[in-house]
Amino acid sequence: MAQAWKKSDWRNKPRVQMPDYLDADALKAVEAQLSKYPPLVFAGEARKLKASLAAVSRGEAFLLQGGDCAESFAEFSADTIRDTFKVMLQMAMVLTYGAKVPVVKVGRMAGQFAKPRSAPTETKDGVELPSYRGDIINELDFTPEARIPNPNKMLQAYTQAAASLNLLRAFSTGGYADVHQVHAWTLGFTESEKAAQYRELANNISAALTFMKAAGVTQETAHTLQSVDFYVSHEALLLEYEEALCRIDSTSGLPVAGSGHMIWIGDRTRQPDGAHVEFARGVQNPIGLKCGPTTTPEDLKVLMNKLNPENEAGRLTLIARFGAGNVGEHLPRLIKTVKEEGANVVWTCDPMHGNTIKSSTGYKTRPFESVLREVREFFEIHASEGTIPGGVHFEMTGKDVTECTGGVRAVTDEDLSDRYHTACDPRLNASQSLELAFLVSEELSA
Ligand code: PEP
Ligand code: MN
Repeated sequence: MAQAWKKSDWRNKPRVQMPDYLDADALKAVEAQLSKYPPLVFAGEARKLKASLAAVSRGEAFLLQGGDCAESFAEFSADTIRDTFKVMLQMAMVLTYGAKVPVVKVGRMAGQFAKPRSAPTETKDGVELPSYRGDIINELDFTPEARIPNPNKMLQAYTQAAASLNLLRAFSTGGYADVHQVHAWTLGFTESEKAAQYRELANNISAALTFMKAAGVTQETAHTLQSVDFYVSHEALLLEYEEALCRIDSTSGLPVAGSGHMIWIGDRTRQPDGAHVEFARGVQNPIGLKCGPTTTPEDLKVLMNKLNPENEAGRLTLIARFGAGNVGEHLPRLIKTVKEEGANVVWTCDPMHGNTIKSSTGYKTRPFESVLREVREFFEIHASEGTIPGGVHFEMTGKDVTECTGGVRAVTDEDLSDRYHTACDPRLNASQSLELAFLVSEELSA
């Protein structure tokens, strides 16, 4: 099946959520240029992630996927990347303690630039303009010029992704990710937050680290305490960009997406006969598939067969995003389908996209309690079905933003205007992210 596939085949399929570029020559020039650039990630890395996700599918590891809803060109800085990386490592340490298995860390980073939208246009003060579709496509400013899709933005996205990966690779191996340092940061959080239950867990981690040191397990003897494997992922929405970065793996001779280690298919672009599924089915990377309230068992069955015909463990991650209070209605029938098919999948929970509301002050927000409730429902259902809740998928940042309400520092509707910086969906801030990790860790150790 894979042999017959060509990276341009998606062009013959119906496409949704993609821009219509007006200047065909400019688009061709950008595609030609990107096709010559080095891939951003390498086939061997994608294979290694797949093996780790296979362990997740068996319950031998836990997946933490997180980052911005949409990366932005304007907000790009070393500090932003460092802060998100740092909070993800802290979360991973807390989750490792609860899950008693390794945590596979995957950022929504270095390529998460294109956004599906609920409507093709936006209206403000009686003026209707095309929707903003992410910095890789057009601009957020509310002017007709800013909203014209510009193919040259793909080159800037590539450059930003390359620089992001360069920094992430340095952070992952250069001592920054040392387990003792990560733990020191987390102790800072539990002191300042006056959260006794978190402090207890943090103290237990301290005790474990002290024991390891006493037993002679040090940075020098255990390389894994000092460095981490950190992967990047994004929604493969802009297929011109994906096709241009698709490469042949010299080891297997098979196509691989060079744009990120893992790519996923969004809830709005998962039509079984559509362009996005056609592209994703042909590359060897781990693939994510968002499953929402409108995912039918019939579609899921077709999609699993298309995306993972060999039933390879680690290839397919199903990202459930139903909304708090709706998991019980939707998840069991999809679990049933997976069981009937005998399919190897990772089940992970995105408690963000089904819980977006408009606050009383007019901001798009997500209440922390709803996010946590959806995660708990996800765990409960897997427990009653005897299946494995393999991970969590968050929209989050290491910055102290006020975009989601609630948490120990209790962001209120009135606070949202203080530091509401997202260009797209509301993200958990550093404190809310870590608190959620503590709460998920409790679920995992229950
Ligand atoms: C997203 O992950 O940012 C997103 C748009 O999700 P979904 O496709 O699940 O709505
Ligand atoms: Mn989003």
